[in-house]
Amino acid sequence: MEGRLVVGGLWAAGGRLPVRPWQVTRWNLWQLPGRLVAAALCVDGLALVLIASQTVALSPTARDLALTVVLVLFGLVHTEVVSRVERMRRRVTHTSYYDLSSVWTFAAAALLPLPLAAVVVAAVYLHLWVRVWRPARCLAYRTLYTAAAVVLAVQAAHAVVAAGGGPSTWATGVRGLGELAAAVFAYAAVNDLLVIGVIALEPGAIPAGWRARVHHLLGPVDDFVLEVATLSLGALTAMALDQNPWLVVLVLLPLVVLHRAVATRHYEQRAATDVKTGLLNAASWHERAERALRSAQRHGGAAGVLILDLDHFKAVNDTYGHLAGDDVLVAVAATLRAEVRERDVVGRFGGEEFVVLVRDLPLTSSGRRQLERVAERIRARVAQLVVAVSTADGPLAISGLTTSVGAVFHLGRTSTLQQVLGAADAALYAAKRDGRNLVRFGSLGPGIGPAPTMPGLPSSS
Ligand code: GH3
Ligand code: MG
Ligand code: MG
Repeated sequence: MEGRLVVGGLWAAGGRLPVRPWQVTRWNLWQLPGRLVAAALCVDGLALVLIASQTVALSPTARDLALTVVLVLFGLVHTEVVSRVERMRRRVTHTSYYDLSSVWTFAAAALLPLPLAAVVVAAVYLHLWVRVWRPARCLAYRTLYTAAAVVLAVQAAHAVVAAGGGPSTWATGVRGLGELAAAVFAYAAVNDLLVIGVIALEPGAIPAGWRARVHHLLGPVDDFVLEVATLSLGALTAMALDQNPWLVVLVLLPLVVLHRAVATRHYEQRAATDVKTGLLNAASWHERAERALRSAQRHGGAAGVLILDLDHFKAVNDTYGHLAGDDVLVAVAATLRAEVRERDVVGRFGGEEFVVLVRDLPLTSSGRRQLERVAERIRARVAQLVVAVSTADGPLAISGLTTSVGAVFHLGRTSTLQQVLGAADAALYAAKRDGRNLVRFGSLGPGIGPAPTMPGLPSSS
């Protein structure tokens, strides 16, 4: 799919005032940092210039015009069918997400002259904006950038198709597959690079550490799989339309099923997710951590638990306001997620308290050292964080954050998760007592105090 819409960070924070399109000096776009404005104007401008120059030489056939109408119509019907779920997906997504309209825009790239393919893109995105993104409070300049990025992706895919000889070659064995696959690749590469570009240009929005950066820029693997699946459906749609436009009806059912799968995954994720940070919420963290601990016990492995509590976080709220505090929580959550492996279980217990279950540690003293390294790395990364926030007094960068960490190395014996959490919580208090910005280890020996109650820490923490 293309249409990876950037929804997070400063790119999204460029103002909230409703502005009429002709009030040029008041456009929300001008509130962005200069390099984002320049990037947006370059990409939007390049798309416009290319389309304008190609329109001069356009001499469409009746078939081209008919296919344009078919693709626009199917694109509009598709958006109407999925608009309710898409609005919800858009509202709860933190960084970027894919819409599924590239089924139609990719087919347009493969089959139509470029100006007509641009008409399909414009119609589909104008409609998406009116029905999905504007009601979900997405600003116009971002929709425009998304559409311009799609126009450039369409240009790339079209060039690859043209170089390969066009639709007549698609029926020739593995060569046909190769040509369509190359077009899919060109489309995805151009679109993703343009989206990654604006995410990367956001000042201060990129978390520290290369793993954090890669995850932040590329987004979840599931989104990439969805993108390839949607573009593949786009390639089949192009083939069907080329053979017999009526065959496109056969694309609709797989598309609806694909969309349902996306929606189901979305609802499952939402139920398990802390809305503010995108991490697991306390209940789902508990459930997954229990499972991970049981598996470690069954297989004789070791695991570790880290509980983190930001130091003097109340002062951040008091100084910069709660919204800025929320931005800090989001940045810390991204750092945490990035500093551990995909299979480790990361959650927000509530407030400014986070918890990590580090899985698959060696059952020796090197396992404990490994856990200590992870905890120290997280502590250091939080101390390096610079979080760009917009406050009533304008944009600011918050730094000097620290966190205390309570850690427990669990040898996979009989202790329950509650006992492990109790020990980690006691260690966290020790870190606070000893001066904060520290990692302290707790042990599961006798004398551990009562375990905290579900879902996480005792209310006194
Ligand atoms: P300490 O070093 O002892 O942990 O000090 P602290 O200020 O971090 O601890 P305290 O528990 O007194 O304060 C936690 C603060 O976290 C108080 C509360 O306003 C703030 N907080 C809790 N949840 C949220 C949230 O979702 N967003 C924001 N912005 N602040 C929150
Ligand atoms: Mg705190
Ligand atoms: Mg606290």
